[in-house]
Parts: sequence; C-alpha cells; structure tokens
Amino acid sequence: MAAPRIAVHKLASCDGCQLALLNLGEDLLALAEAVEIRHFVEAGWVDEEAEVDIALVEGAVSTPHDAERIRAVRARSRLLVAVGACATAGGVQALRNEGDLDAWLGRVYPHPEWVEAAPRCEPLSAHVPVDLELPGCPVSGAQVVAALASLLRGAAPAPARDAVCMACKRAGHVCTLVAGGAPCMGPVTVTGCGAVCPGQGRDCYGCYGPAAQANTPALMRRFRALGLDAEAVARRFAGIQAGAEVFAKARYQALHDATLNRERLERRATAREEREGQG
Ligand code: SF4
Ligand code: SF4
Ligand code: SF4
Repeated sequence: MAAPRIAVHKLASCDGCQLALLNLGEDLLALAEAVEIRHFVEAGWVDEEAEVDIALVEGAVSTPHDAERIRAVRARSRLLVAVGACATAGGVQALRNEGDLDAWLGRVYPHPEWVEAAPRCEPLSAHVPVDLELPGCPVSGAQVVAALASLLRGAAPAPARDAVCMACKRAGHVCTLVAGGAPCMGPVTVTGCGAVCPGQGRDCYGCYGPAAQANTPALMRRFRALGLDAEAVARRFAGIQAGAEVFAKARYQALHDATLNRERLERRATAREEREGQG
C-alpha cells in the first residue's frame, strides 16, 4: 500500500509552527518513514502543487494571494488541518481587523500602494472547509503527530477541551493567579501546551485560545479585583488569539465597560464643576 502523502504549507505567519514540527527531531524522522512528505519547504521538500492525503497549513489568510492559495491547497488535499493560532484564529495579525488598515499601511510603508492586503486577516475556516484545527502559538508538535496518527488510522482526533488550569494543577505548578496575583488566562484557555508558562512562573496569556465553556465574565471580574482597569482587562483578550470569537466578545465587553466608566466619571466631573460654579 502506498504511504499517505503529506504536505506542509505556509500562508501569513512567522514559520514558528513549522519550526515546532522540525523540533520534533526523531519523531519527525519516524513520521517521514511512515508517510511520504511531498511539500515542507522548511525541511527541504518542495512540491507546492502536490496532491496529498493530508495538508497541514500554518498561517492566516491576509492577502488576496493567500486566499487563492488556500483554495488551491484545499482542492488538492483530502484532509486539511489548520495548525497554530494564525491558521485557526487569524493570529496576532488579526488585530489589524480592528484598526484603520489604510492609515496603518501609510504609516508603516513608504509605498503602501505596493502592499496587497485583504480587507481582513482571517483564519482558514473563513475561506475553505477545515477538517481539524490545532491551536497554539506555536502549535504543539506532539499534538500534530498525535492528530496525524489518528487521521491516518481513519479515526477523528479528540480535540482538547480542558482549560490550562487542569494541566497546571496536574503538574503541581504554583498558581500565578492565586499565589502571585497575576492576571493568568489559564482558566479560560484550552490546554495543549502542558501549562508551560505557569511552569516557568509566569501567567498564561491565552495563546491556545478559548477552552470549551470558558467562563470569561468570571475571569474578567477576577482581573478587575486584582486592580486591572477595563482597558487592561480588554488587552488580556487582545493578543495572539484576538480573532477567536469568545475572546473577541470578552474584549468588546471590557471596552464597553471602559466606555461606560469613562462616561460616568465625565458626568461626575461635570456635575462637580456645576456645583462648584453655583457655590
Ligand atoms: S501561530 Fe504563532 S508560531 Fe505559529 S505561525 Fe502563527 S505566529 Fe508563528
Ligand atoms: S497559574 Fe494560571 S493556569 Fe495555573 S492554575 Fe493558576 S490560573 Fe490556572
Ligand atoms: S501557558 Fe498559555 S500562553 Fe503559555 S504556551 Fe500555554 S496556552 Fe500559551
């Protein structure tokens, strides 16, 4: 029987997810023996137009050319797996969706007319059907290999659902939120990284995206109790996973709260000035 054919493609991204695959070392060599890798530029295989059983795609759709390429990859692949935060949620570059693209292009590039950017930076699923999404910035190489093993056996990989807190507790890390008062995103972030940041004594910043049933209102209240103002709470949900719907909703809620706060303070200041003027 012919070995399953695999391709690894890249759209708008930093290559970090491909490097996570390369860092698999011996596991990657074992994978290369079990499958036929047809395209993986970072590793030296180049055949962009190869028809494959599984395409792993890193990166977001940020230009019209990206949109054409992902449609072509989809047409040539039996299964398409989105790897990493860029491919699953747009990545950090999706933050541009909330700004004035033309104004930013004008500020950054001497010739903005040479830049062909799509109006929005989007995940793969906004353009083509995606069979599996593996989040993370970068993705976990071990998760990719486990998912490939399931797919090649014809089984659907079980997506992670628990929050980072579960992995953190299992590993016995000291809680940065409870013991350190840090605004840790672990309670609302899906596991997969092995709670690597709390393991290094720093708070999770949510790079794997929302966990199932993420209770963002409760965590936002906790962040406020730690002393973060509404803008600071919004920024916690505005990072690498800014494009994930659950985090985007939390961010808009925090910004809405910030606006209400500002208006209340302005009303109070105006009333005080009027009282002082009358006195
Ligand atoms: S998800 Fe992160 S590591 Fe992967 S390509 Fe995007 S920015 Fe790079
Ligand atoms: S450090 Fe963060 S991830 Fe770990 S238990 Fe505390 S809140 Fe959860
Ligand atoms: S702990 Fe949080 S920020 Fe750190 S790698 Fe895991 S999901 Fe990403």
